Amino acid sequence: MIAPFSWIRPEPWGIHIVPADAWVDPSRPVPRALVTHGHADHARGGHGMTLATPATLAIMKLRYATSEGASPVEYGETVSIGGGVSATYLPAGHVLGSAQILLEHAGERVIITGDYKRARDPTAAPFEVTPCDIFITEATFGLPVFTHPPIGEEIGKLLEARAESPDSCILVGAYALGKAQRVIAELRAAGHSDTIWLHGAMEAMCRLYEEHGVMLGDLRLVSDAKKDEMRGGIILAPPSALNDRWSRRLPEPVTAMASGWMRVRQRARQRGVELPLVISDHADWNELTRTITEVNPQETWITHGREEALLRWCELSQRRARALALVGYEDEDD
Ligand SMILES: [Zn+2]
Ligand SMILES: [Zn+2]
Repeated sequence: MIAPFSWIRPEPWGIHIVPADAWVDPSRPVPRALVTHGHADHARGGHGMTLATPATLAIMKLRYATSEGASPVEYGETVSIGGGVSATYLPAGHVLGSAQILLEHAGERVIITGDYKRARDPTAAPFEVTPCDIFITEATFGLPVFTHPPIGEEIGKLLEARAESPDSCILVGAYALGKAQRVIAELRAAGHSDTIWLHGAMEAMCRLYEEHGVMLGDLRLVSDAKKDEMRGGIILAPPSALNDRWSRRLPEPVTAMASGWMRVRQRARQRGVELPLVISDHADWNELTRTITEVNPQETWITHGREEALLRWCELSQRRARALALVGYEDEDD
């Protein structure tokens, strides 16, 4: 008799699906990878074969300039991956194309969430609660102190700051995949139809989102603009560009940053951020605990962040849980 769940094995560099000899989000090249989403710490180049949603594959192609072995799986589609294991990709609500992966083998069901959130996001299909035996959850913001405000409030702050300083511009640091497009889409939803200015590093990903049906309105490149044109404007750039030479071409920028880490004042101060916007594409503490409660698995495996507090919460709620020690995941700017 085979021990329950022995077919799924967490290794430091990814989750190994033993009978199929495939890996989920491996941090090193493998013959067969199942990838949850396009962020660099989950999606790496160099695998023999990559199973992912069409949008994730497009993001990987853009980033690695290769699409060898790309095998698209649509949301809701179930594919057989060999060794009697099937995989179903379900929306995770994290970024465009992001998926939870449901693995089924011998009547046992395991879900690997990748990164996820429950908050609204017009750029990503919403997270689907799905029953399973083992739920492998991320825990990037796995501390009770991390609660993300409704995004409408943070977008309101951004628009207010802009109205208050018509002669300068608001420079918003945002992760180039996901965060930037979500901020733009939420600005549009709030009625901001003016040109939004982009750092060159954001352009291709914004275009990719539009190709996948996420309309972002009038976007132009900072490099094509005259300084005065950008007065009173909102400008998006990768966090690394906030304090570098590039920003000198901007008219008196007020520095903002959109990140769940902006909840921590010290982090905002360290980066010289004047307008911290607490906008995250990860579940906050309340979303993590609510999701575990709703999915109601036999066992929760916690990875990718602050495992201890969530582990303790599970114990106190009479839930079986364990922390996994996977390496290579970082979401410092997320
Ligand atoms: Zn991610
Ligand atoms: Zn991640």
